[in-house]
Amino acid sequence: MTRSERNVDVLIVGAGPAGLAAGAELAAAGAGRVEILEREQEAGGIPRHCHHGQFGGRFVRGGMSGPTYARQSVAAALRAGAGLRTGVTVTGWAGPATVETTGPGGLERITAGAVVLATGARERPRSARLVPGSRPPGVHTTGELQQAVHLYGQRIGTRAVVIGNESVAHAAVATLRAAGVHVVAVVTDRPAAPLRVRQRIPLLTGATVTGLTGRTRLSGVSLRHDDGRTTTLRCDTVVFTGDFVPDHELARRGGITLDPGTRGPAYDAAYRTSRPGVFAIGNLLHAVERAGVAADEGRAVAVSVLHRLSGTDEPPGRGRPVVVDAPLRWVAPNLTGPDGARPLKDRFVLRTARRLARPLLLVSQGGHELHRQRLLLPAVPGQPFHLAAGWLDRVDPHGPPVRITAR
Ligand SMILES: Cc1cc2nc3c(=O)[nH]c(=O)nc-3n(C[C@H](O)[C@H](O)[C@H](O)COP(=O)(O)OP(=O)(O)OC[C@H]3O[C@@H](n4cnc5c(N)ncnc54)[C@H](O)[C@@H]3O)c2cc1C
Repeated sequence: MTRSERNVDVLIVGAGPAGLAAGAELAAAGAGRVEILEREQEAGGIPRHCHHGQFGGRFVRGGMSGPTYARQSVAAALRAGAGLRTGVTVTGWAGPATVETTGPGGLERITAGAVVLATGARERPRSARLVPGSRPPGVHTTGELQQAVHLYGQRIGTRAVVIGNESVAHAAVATLRAAGVHVVAVVTDRPAAPLRVRQRIPLLTGATVTGLTGRTRLSGVSLRHDDGRTTTLRCDTVVFTGDFVPDHELARRGGITLDPGTRGPAYDAAYRTSRPGVFAIGNLLHAVERAGVAADEGRAVAVSVLHRLSGTDEPPGRGRPVVVDAPLRWVAPNLTGPDGARPLKDRFVLRTARRLARPLLLVSQGGHELHRQRLLLPAVPGQPFHLAAGWLDRVDPHGPPVRITAR
């Protein structure tokens, strides 16, 4: 089948909060023809089905529901002059800044002056979490649950167990209740819960899911507790929450270097990936932050894209990797550079695999200490914490990777 071919100045892949904000900013800045492609029929990204969230950002007072936030973000991008096409999936690459797409109009090949990847993150399904057992209906991730309830009005079940206790578990509980489902328990394998699910739902800590039972419909979730006990919770619905991974498929297909910690593209303070002219923003880089952060990154990437379009950007590839030692899981950005650039809000974002009480973060390069910083609050799995970026000026651009450790 033949593909039609055309050119744009900026191509943005993904119309979530990050991609829409980037589109609005670039179109308003006169970047030329700015086009946003979205594989879903409706633009807006995850907030489209987050009826119970609190969405907002730098420019929003208070908060609003996800669907309202999504509508406002779409309207802002269109008002600024960005082109938006839905039902169009970017499937691969045909050149350094040329992508292949499939959509209602057929197959296309689009070449851009700059490509911005804003493909977001997804929750890992049960199979990817190595939970054994049968595969009956009634097993969801939070995103699938929200779409079933809020976008398609489907019936869910009567008794549900929610697995995980990161903030997204609150959204799952709220959605289940809105659908009239009794929440039997929230289960976490962590010894102490980082966040409490309110409204008198039992919170089972230190419990691991060992299997799912049921044939034509889910009938229970088997658990093993830290003290060796085993139990089965009777339910017809289970929701696996949290455990996000960046939607990095397109980046991977383009041979873009991925960071081993975040599993999104490795990137620097200018949102540059290892592929010249290809930028990345939003939860593709760090699964997951709030929508306001993704949108802030969308606005921030515009400066770097404009440099690229006008040929005034620094070539990529000079930055030093920034790596973490366990129990830290990842840091973002995870490359230094370009010269003089600082990350959003002048800070790095990090995650830990286990709770650390007011840790001391040490930044070093080749054994030479660049910075130390005591956190005022505990670092908790699943929650972001931050490291000031002032030490970037002291990095040797020809030296070994920069290392962050926690004590
Ligand atoms: C259940 C849940 C509740 C949340 N609640 C809140 C909340 O209350 N407040 C808050 O601030 N944040 C909340 N968040 C986080 C917030 O939704 C995210 O931070 C935000 O959506 C990230 O924006 P993004 O643009 O990076 O990615 P996304 O919103 O995931 O958007 C990415 C878009 O890219 C599209 N896409 C992917 N690949 C392709 C491709 N190859 N071709 C074309 N299109 C593609 C996807 O379809 C999607 O629309 C919640 C998240 C979840 C999962």
